[in-house]
Order: sequence, then C-alpha cells, then structure tokens
Amino acid sequence: MIRQLYRVLGPEGSRPLNRLLVLQCAAAVLQGVAFALLVPVLRALLGPAPDDVWPWLTAFAGCALAHAVLQGAAVSGGFTVGSQLSRVLHQRMADQALRLPLGWFDAGRTAEFSRLAGQNVIQVMSTPAHLLRPFISSLLTPATLVLATFFFDVRTALVLLVCAPVLFAVQAASSAVMRRLDLGRDAAIGESADRVLEYARNQPVLRAFGRTAEGYGALDEALVAEARADRRLIARGLPGLVSFSFATRLVFALLLALGVSWQLDGSLTVATLLALLVLLVRLIDSVSSAAEAGAGMRIARNTLERLGALLDEPPFPQPAEPRTPRDASVEFDKVGFRYDGGADPVAGAAARPVLNDVTFRLPERSMTALVGPSGAGKTTIAGLLARFRDTTEGTVRIGGVDVREIGADDLADHVSLVFQDVYLFDGTIEENVRIAAPHAYSGQLAEAAALSGLDRVVEELPEGWAMKVGEGGARLSGGQRQRVSIARALLKDAPILVLDEATAALDQENEALFAQAVRALAARRTLLVIAHRLSTVVGADQILVLEDGEITERGTHDDLVAAAGTYASFWERRAQAHGWRLESAPS
Ligand code: ADP
Ligand code: MG
Repeated sequence: MIRQLYRVLGPEGSRPLNRLLVLQCAAAVLQGVAFALLVPVLRALLGPAPDDVWPWLTAFAGCALAHAVLQGAAVSGGFTVGSQLSRVLHQRMADQALRLPLGWFDAGRTAEFSRLAGQNVIQVMSTPAHLLRPFISSLLTPATLVLATFFFDVRTALVLLVCAPVLFAVQAASSAVMRRLDLGRDAAIGESADRVLEYARNQPVLRAFGRTAEGYGALDEALVAEARADRRLIARGLPGLVSFSFATRLVFALLLALGVSWQLDGSLTVATLLALLVLLVRLIDSVSSAAEAGAGMRIARNTLERLGALLDEPPFPQPAEPRTPRDASVEFDKVGFRYDGGADPVAGAAARPVLNDVTFRLPERSMTALVGPSGAGKTTIAGLLARFRDTTEGTVRIGGVDVREIGADDLADHVSLVFQDVYLFDGTIEENVRIAAPHAYSGQLAEAAALSGLDRVVEELPEGWAMKVGEGGARLSGGQRQRVSIARALLKDAPILVLDEATAALDQENEALFAQAVRALAARRTLLVIAHRLSTVVGADQILVLEDGEITERGTHDDLVAAAGTYASFWERRAQAHGWRLESAPS
C-alpha cells in the first residue's frame, strides 16, 4: 500500500510522504511507550511504597504529551499529503491523457478514466490521514508494547511474542480472502455503473422503442451480478472476521490463566498482573484496529493499483529525432489494420483485419472523396492518418515522412479533423471555435464562420457568438454543433483537412452550400472527405470506394459511373430516388 502510494506520487511527491511516515511511526512508538509506563505506575500505586509513583507518573505524562503533539502533527501532515496526492494524481493523469494514443480512449476506457479521476482520487486522498496513521499505529504500538513487557515480566513477554504474530496471521488470512472478494465486487460495481450510464444515455432510443427497465437485459444482468458479489462478500468474508475475534479472546484467556497461576505460585505480584492485563487489553485493541485499518487499506490499495496501472500505461512511442513533412500530401502504403492492440478487445472481433492492403495518395491541394458502406473502415482510415493509432502493416506518410517519425505537435499542426460526433466544451460558441487558434484575427474567424455556415447560425441566436453551448454542446442542435466543429477545423488552418461524415447532420440547403465551400477549400488544402451525399462527392478530384476494408474502385465521378461498378449503382439508385443521400447499404 505504501509502495503504491510512492508509485502514484512519483519522485516529486515522495519527500512529504517520507516526513509523514517518520512522524506517524514516532507517534505510534511513543503511544506504546506511554502505555508501557502504566505498568510501573500501577505497580508503584498498588505496591508498598505509593510515593514511588511520582517519577513514573511524570515520565508517563511527558510521553503522553509528546505523543499528543506528534499525533497532531501527523494528522495535519496526513491532510497535507492527501491534498498533495489529489493534485499530483490529477496532474499526472492529465499528462498521461496527453501521451496516450487517441485510439486508447474508447467508451469503456473513458468511463473508467472519469471514475478514476473523480471518485477514486477522492477516496485515495483520505488515505494518508484516515488509513495510514491508524494502520501504522496498529502495527508499531503493539510491537512497542511487547518489547516493553520484557522489562516487567519475561514470561508474559514471551507468550505475547508468540501470540501477537498468530493474531496478525489470522488477520492477514482473513484480509486476503476479503481482498479477493472486494476485487470481484469492485468489478461488478464498475460494470453496473457503466450499464446505468449507458442506460441513461440511451433513454431516447429505448423510449422510442418502448423498452422499459425490465427489458434492458445488460443492466439487469449487471445488477444481478453485483448483488451476487455482495452476497459472496458476506458469506465468504464472515468466517475470517469471526475467527479473528475468536483468536483475540483465546489469547486473552490464555494469558489470564497463566498470569493467575504465576500469581498463585508467588512468582508474580498482583500489581504486576493487573498492570500486564491492562497492557494486554491495549494490545488486543491495537491488533483489532489493525483489522479495521487493514480493510480500508485493502480498498485503497485496489484503487491505487488501478491508478498506477493507468499511469504506467505505455505512452504512444514518439520519434527520437522528429522529422518535418516536406509538403501536405498524404500517402497510404499497403496499410493493414486490426483493432486488437487494446487491453480488452471485444471478443471475436479482435483478430479480424479492418483494413487490408490500402494504398492511395492524396496529392497536395486536391480533394479526395472516400465512400463506402458503413463499417467499411472509412473512419479507421481517418484515425490512422491523424495517428490516433498505429497501423498494423504498411505505412502512412505525410509529406513523404512516416507519421511515426513526425513529432506529435507537428503532426497536430498538419492535420485537422471533423468527425460526425462533435464534442463541444462548456463555453461560448466563440470560445469553442477559437480553441483551434486562440490568437486568430476576427477576420479569420468571420471567414471560417462564412465557409462553415456558422455565420447564419450565429445571426439567428439572440446572444450570437457569446451563446453558451452547455456541456458537450447540449444547447445546440446537431447541425449547429457540426457547423461549430467545421468552423473550428477551418480556423485551425492546417494544410490537411479530413471531414468524416461532417455534414451528416446538416440539412439539404446547408449541405449544398457547404459542398461548394469544400470545393473552394481544396484550392488551398489537401482534403479528404468521407461522405455519403453525392453533392459533396461529385466534384472530387478522385473518389475512392472502400468495401470491407479494401479499395475496390478509384477514379473521378465520370470514370466510376462509366465503369458500372459499385459506385455506379449508388449513383443510379440516387437518380431513381431523386434524393440526395447516397445509400450506403452493403451489397
Ligand atoms: P466506417 O467509418 O466505414 O463506418 P469504421 O472505420 O468506423 O467504419 O469501422 C470499421 C470496422 O472496424 C467496423 O467493423 C467496426 O466494427 C470496427 N471498429 C471500429 N472502431 C473500433 C474499435 N474502437 N474497436 C474495435 N473495432 C472497431
Ligand atoms: Mg465512420
């Protein structure tokens, strides 16, 4: 547990923790000494010369006072280290979030991350003050007591020396069982927390389909599993707890019996016997508070282990000598990809390659459209281009340089992405757009707004640019959010722009306007547009058709219509339907 604290605190946090541990140990030992001094005090009081008590009483009072002072310092030190712990942990988690590959953050991981950063950090924060101190004193105080007993009665001390480890062993054994059960229950609780979250998020869908709570199987199962884990914890953990309290009573009875027999044969005075029994009560007290502190420590250790595992997650490898792309062209060279690098691959889907031998080139200042049925791997291609993940086979190059050899900042400067699911920060529209380029001139902002159609959104809003979007952009419609994110990507002015179904939430009129804007953009940038609407695709310099992870057709709109393949049948269907959407059903 202490090792884990050092691990998550890192080198800079270890000094205050050292100091705290020394304080807590000293306080615990002093407490033991103060208790031990009760023996001579009682012996003198009950003996033939009660006046002898004064020196002992003075020593006892001195020890008690010193203990109180140290204890106070240890408690406040505990709070200091606790708040430092939360600061360091949040800082390190934020640093780690920056270093991890973006592909790491899928839905389950994000939920785990937020649980760790919130609830679990708060839990760990209270460890030094509320758990560490009782734990240390529950170990050191009895040890001091046993040592001190040697001065008063060697036989009693030997008995204690044998019994104390037995007590601790019984306690440790029951702890080990509890720890295993706790882990199982933690996992069950985590699972049902995820399911409840999912259930709440999916309310619109569930209600639309008339699914009630009973119908939502995954949540039901998680709750049943949680209840089962709870019952297991009680059923299997109880014997351990009972056997510990039984063992303490046994030791007490044994010492009482021995003490009385020694007293009867005259080798132990009544005063010493009484005083030793007082010590024994204190000792058993300490050992059983070790059981309590141990339980808290166990939970904290599990949490710290998870935090430590997150902090030790290997960061994305960065190039030792970063190279700068020569230009803004993009090249996929025989790229293959599988989603199985993660820690918990979805069973079954793990080994299937998502992309296979994908080769294409996006010349500088050109527009390429990527089309294909959903699940074909289009979003995966966009993610590989921005190095959210690394390819399984083959190479992605920007400006002739392997993306793995480009520094993270440089890569971010080169590529700008707009995804279908837009996340906005809780701030104003202007702040959300300016995140891309905080120092952009208002002229640049206006240009980005005009190209993305955001200017029309802002005009209609009473607060205009100063409108607060709410958490995640909840106060805007899907189309409005999308225009904010497009404006943000345009303002960033990166030479490579990837639009992944960025116009899916736009209505026809805005989509048509945006399609014109996109063609204008290609004059300055390398554009990769993933789209399922023909109005966007028709004018592209090159169209790539992706099916099941492979590029099956490529060429201009006219070439592909003439080739009478998949693309041509899309086109025909669209012509028949007189609609705008390019239907993307697998054939
Ligand atoms: P598209 O964008 O063309 O609809 P994607 O690139 O999103 O397709 O997905 C391609 C395939 O990869 C799908 O079969 C999908 O299930 C799988 N996939 C996508 N993201 C992940 C992920 N994070 N983990 C595992 N499989 C994934
Ligand atoms: Mg997609």
